[in-house]
Amino acid sequence: MSYRTGSEFAREMDASDPLAEWRGQFYIPKTKEGRDCIYLCGNSLGLQPKSVEAAVRQELEDWKNLGVEGHFHAQHPWMPYHEFLTKPLANLVGAKPVEVVAMNSLTVNLHLLMVSFYRPTKARHKIVIEASAFPSDHYAAASQIRYHGFDPKDSLIELAPRKGEATLRSEDIEQLIAREGDGIALIMIGGVNYYTGQLFEMERIAKAGHAKGCIVGFDLAHAAGNAVLKLHDWGVDFACWCSYKYLNSGPGSVAGCFVHERHAKTELPRFAGWWGHDKNTRFKMGPDFRPMQGAEGWQLSNPPILSLAAVRASLAIFDTVGMEKLREKSVKLTGYMEFLLDGLHSDAFAILTPRDKDQRGCQLSIAVKHDGRALFDALTVAGVVCDWREPDCIRVAPVPLYNSFADVHRFVEIFAGHVK
Ligand SMILES: *Cc1c(COP(=O)(O)O)cnc(C)c1O
Repeated sequence: MSYRTGSEFAREMDASDPLAEWRGQFYIPKTKEGRDCIYLCGNSLGLQPKSVEAAVRQELEDWKNLGVEGHFHAQHPWMPYHEFLTKPLANLVGAKPVEVVAMNSLTVNLHLLMVSFYRPTKARHKIVIEASAFPSDHYAAASQIRYHGFDPKDSLIELAPRKGEATLRSEDIEQLIAREGDGIALIMIGGVNYYTGQLFEMERIAKAGHAKGCIVGFDLAHAAGNAVLKLHDWGVDFACWCSYKYLNSGPGSVAGCFVHERHAKTELPRFAGWWGHDKNTRFKMGPDFRPMQGAEGWQLSNPPILSLAAVRASLAIFDTVGMEKLREKSVKLTGYMEFLLDGLHSDAFAILTPRDKDQRGCQLSIAVKHDGRALFDALTVAGVVCDWREPDCIRVAPVPLYNSFADVHRFVEIFAGHVK
């Protein structure tokens, strides 16, 4: 792709962008002056699709008019409601329908899946995570280790970049697994690191882990709806993700999880609840738990329908557009931002995110040398919505569904006006 600097190039790109019309399907927050914000924060909270309101209102209406009968007679009956999400979720992450379910929230799912997939023994008790893992993942892994009577000091391996580098090298991850694999019970890293935006080579990591007999799971909070995923083919054991970042399903909305088909029929130990029980006999209300096969067998409770309605409406968009098309635009959009930032020839900041498009999603993480916080505040005042991560990082995520090339151009113009 060859880019040009002038704003005319952004206009041309937007005019020929086959996905440009999707922006109109989202509510774009406004500045105080009533202009569209330059919203580059879909990695933190995705924007609201216009279709969500009607989907949620439908459930409120059905509840109002039908009461308990809504479980069977709502337009989208509540009893099997999560099943309406199965196909789009499976398409989204490259899974078979039996491998996915929407349930709970992300950290809850991480714990539930670790209950089944982290089974430490004296000889094999370690968990591998990124040194810069999202804190919740770090807490979850460390607390699981302690729960089993081990000490994170001995059992938690944190993958750190080489000195002077910002991101991890796949070969270093492979070497660590080859070296220490016999003691590793679980490799559980982010599909895309939230801080650096690095997209990991999940297939390679899964292969290296399995060669050493380790379980391999991924937290896809920053990967779902951002990268093309093929969880089934990659042979990943389990994965989970939230739905409110790139998946635009609303704050705290219901999360997703993946369990590979090869575990579907095994009697993995788990924390059980009635919604995971064989649905044909669930209402016999018997005392013995018989899990449904596949990911659905990890459900605990009947799900929050109002929230699932938002997920359903939002996933319908992904299912219509398709991840391949989104990714195609995403690579161009983020490449354009990188090109414009590089064109500033400034040593006041550096991009931490890998330069290789295959090793990143849409986000760029910009480390600012001096007083990054002031720069971030100036961007905010100018109508840019992005985020700030201590100690020096501004994260910007141009999202292919609703961001335009003009957004990216304007952002870099504003950035250039304030960076020192
Ligand atoms: C956003 C994010 C979370 C948030 O967890 P919740 O349980 O949804 O609050 C956890 N882990 C990662 C890697 C994230 O990016």
